[in-house]
This record gives sequence, C-alpha cells and structure tokens, in this order.
Amino acid sequence: MKKLKTLLRIFLLVAVGILLYQTTSAQNRSDRALINQAERITNDSFSFTTETPKGAIVYAVRQPGSRMLDAIDKGLTDLFAIARKNRYQRRLNYSDYTIFIAKADRTINSDKSYSPDIAVGAAQYAGSVYDQGGFVYAAGMVLAYNPCAFVFAEHAKDFGRVSDVVRYEGEHLVLYHNDRHLYNKTSNHSQGGGHPIMK
Ligand SMILES: [Zn+2]
Repeated sequence: MKKLKTLLRIFLLVAVGILLYQTTSAQNRSDRALINQAERITNDSFSFTTETPKGAIVYAVRQPGSRMLDAIDKGLTDLFAIARKNRYQRRLNYSDYTIFIAKADRTINSDKSYSPDIAVGAAQYAGSVYDQGGFVYAAGMVLAYNPCAFVFAEHAKDFGRVSDVVRYEGEHLVLYHNDRHLYNKTSNHSQGGGHPIMK
C-alpha cells in the first residue's frame, strides 16, 4: 500500500513536470515564431532581450539605453490613459506588449529632419505616395496581435518621437482588441488618415 502511494506520488510529479515543460516550450515556440517574423521583415537579428522598468518585453539589435526604455514606457502610459478615457479595458498592461527595436534604414527624412525609420515591403502602399519602389519607410509597424507586438528603429536622440511611435503603433493593437470596427477603418493608412486615432 505504501509502495503504491509512493508510485502514485512519483507519477504525479512526472505528470506535473511534463505539463510544465510543455507550457514552457510552447511559450518558447511562439516567441521564436514572433522573433523570426521580426527578423524576416527587418533583415535584422535581435540578439538582446530586456524589459522596460514597467515590464514591457523588448528585443533589440543592440542593448537599448535607459532613455530608450523610459521612452517606451512613457508611450505605453500615454496609450493606456487615452484608451481608458475611451472605456477600453483589454491589453492595457505593460507586459502585454513585445517591442522590437530594429536598425534604422534611414535617419533623415525627405524634409531633412531626424527621423529614424524602417524600410518595409510596400504591400498595401504599392503605387501610393509612400511607395519608394517596392518598399516604404515607416516609423513603426505592427508585427502581431497575440501577443501585441510592433517594431520601430533605434534612436540616438529625440526620444519624444519614440514615445509617440510607441503610442501610435499601440493604438492599432488596442483598437484591434477593443473596437474592431474602428480598427478596421484605421488599420491601413494608404487611404489617408494618420495618428493619433484615439482622442
Ligand atoms: Zn498607423
């Protein structure tokens, strides 16, 4: 009888162990899929992983400095405040967001202003004023909805712009999870309409 109890206990321990292992590896698989997608879109490799002070997950081509991480938190704080004002409730935690910091494909825009941007395939912007010949320059881009993920370029200064980009890309994600109708109307800027969307 005692032997049976011991066996049962071992069996349970093994079962719990397998369950934990499966959960962790599923988590790793989905992280890996997201990282692969970010790498495919940007042609960069994201070797650094960190968290902002408030808990957003960051993947970056280089170790981001504290001003960058604080600027991300500020963008999310602004995003959550305006979202709450609109009575949205879902995905308003810092840890809901995974943010990729890519290499800038340009740092100066056509107006000669500092504007670190990423080049992405033209897709829906083909033939529009944004089209640079198969690609467009974007300040940021949504990568995934579950988990909420987006990418923007490294900045050496003008961290206020980082906060804006975070808030603006975050708008698409908050709307996707809270107001699908408005999300559908505003997800694609090729027909005009920019940010901020939430007032
Ligand atoms: Zn947008």
